[in-house]
Amino acid sequence: MLRGMALAVLMMGTAGAAEAPSSDDQRFSLRRGETLVQVLLRAGLPAGEAHEIAASLRGLVDVRDLKIGQDILIERRSAAPDQPATPHRIGFRPAIDRDVVIERVAAGAWAANVVPRKLTREIARGGGTITQSLARAAEQAGLPNDILIELIRQFSFDVDFQRDVQPGDRFDVLYERDRDEEGDIVRAGRLLAAELTLSGKALLLFRFEAPNQPPEFFTGAGASVRKALLKTPIDGARLTSSFGMRNHPILGFSRMHSGVDFGAPAGTRIHAAGDGVVERAGFEASGYGNVVRIRHTPEFTTLYAHMQQFGLGIRPGTRVRQGQVIGFVGSTGMSTGPHLHYEVHQRGKPINPTALRMPTGRTLTGPELRQFEAERARLLRQWDALPPPQSVLVATRPDDTSR
Ligand SMILES: [Zn+2]
Repeated sequence: MLRGMALAVLMMGTAGAAEAPSSDDQRFSLRRGETLVQVLLRAGLPAGEAHEIAASLRGLVDVRDLKIGQDILIERRSAAPDQPATPHRIGFRPAIDRDVVIERVAAGAWAANVVPRKLTREIARGGGTITQSLARAAEQAGLPNDILIELIRQFSFDVDFQRDVQPGDRFDVLYERDRDEEGDIVRAGRLLAAELTLSGKALLLFRFEAPNQPPEFFTGAGASVRKALLKTPIDGARLTSSFGMRNHPILGFSRMHSGVDFGAPAGTRIHAAGDGVVERAGFEASGYGNVVRIRHTPEFTTLYAHMQQFGLGIRPGTRVRQGQVIGFVGSTGMSTGPHLHYEVHQRGKPINPTALRMPTGRTLTGPELRQFEAERARLLRQWDALPPPQSVLVATRPDDTSR
């Protein structure tokens, strides 16, 4: 364990520990197309030993999974003061929760070990007031990016993140995160509960796993937040801010324009608003550029225009799932800059997606509802036990069933 920790310290590059890196220790980064053996050769190890080291990892870690930029640390030591230092220990961290340590056990012989890192899970609360964009406010609040993405994903059934979010809106989130033994936050866990207050109206959701069901998010009253169509069919974390555009002739819905626009950098992922079958994926000379049209039901289709490129395998006849990446934001056709032009058609006619009211998914009843209520109460207790984010101190949760 001590060795693992010493390595952990070295891997993090933190100085001041008992076993500080000596000048003979070297850090190598895996380059594009490079194998572990090639890094070891680059580090000056003899070819025979490099292959022996790679062989020692068999069954412990698949070195082909190592990513570009992976740090590999090589410690050198000399057998006697008058002898040159040679590699005696090699370490790398293939995942946040484990280190791999390979040590020279005899001349030319190496043995590898996986050293688990002890991570401590904690419940955290984060939030703030949106002044420029939700993404900016989330960053200021120290919210992990994975949590922000999940937050937006779960609210995307109800919230149009381009038009519904206004300056002064607030968010308050309960989530899990893991710390390592050095006390650093190393990864996010699950989103547990969240409150989004838009123009004074609070939207609440709670994570709940009913027996033999996948986890889902529910309103305080126990209704699944899932809807047949997403209001934000794009990676909402990357939207470029444009507040107050609800009634804008271009950004908002108008009969002439027949859809709504989401401003986002070129390459931003576009998601299928709902389950369905791709009816069209091609270039349209009408000005839409690269366009995808999906049929969801005999009644509803959605259309996505100006794409830079289509998602993998997106062609007429492809069955898509809600949230699946169907393409990437671009500026093809008649467009002045990268954005997604999004339309919802009902019986062949464009309708205002912002005003669309989709029926709620399943609503919990009976024993499931009682289990959910217990879980909701537990989450609310954890939530209230943590200090509220500074900027939402003025906010009070009206009651736990409002939405
Ligand atoms: Zn448009």
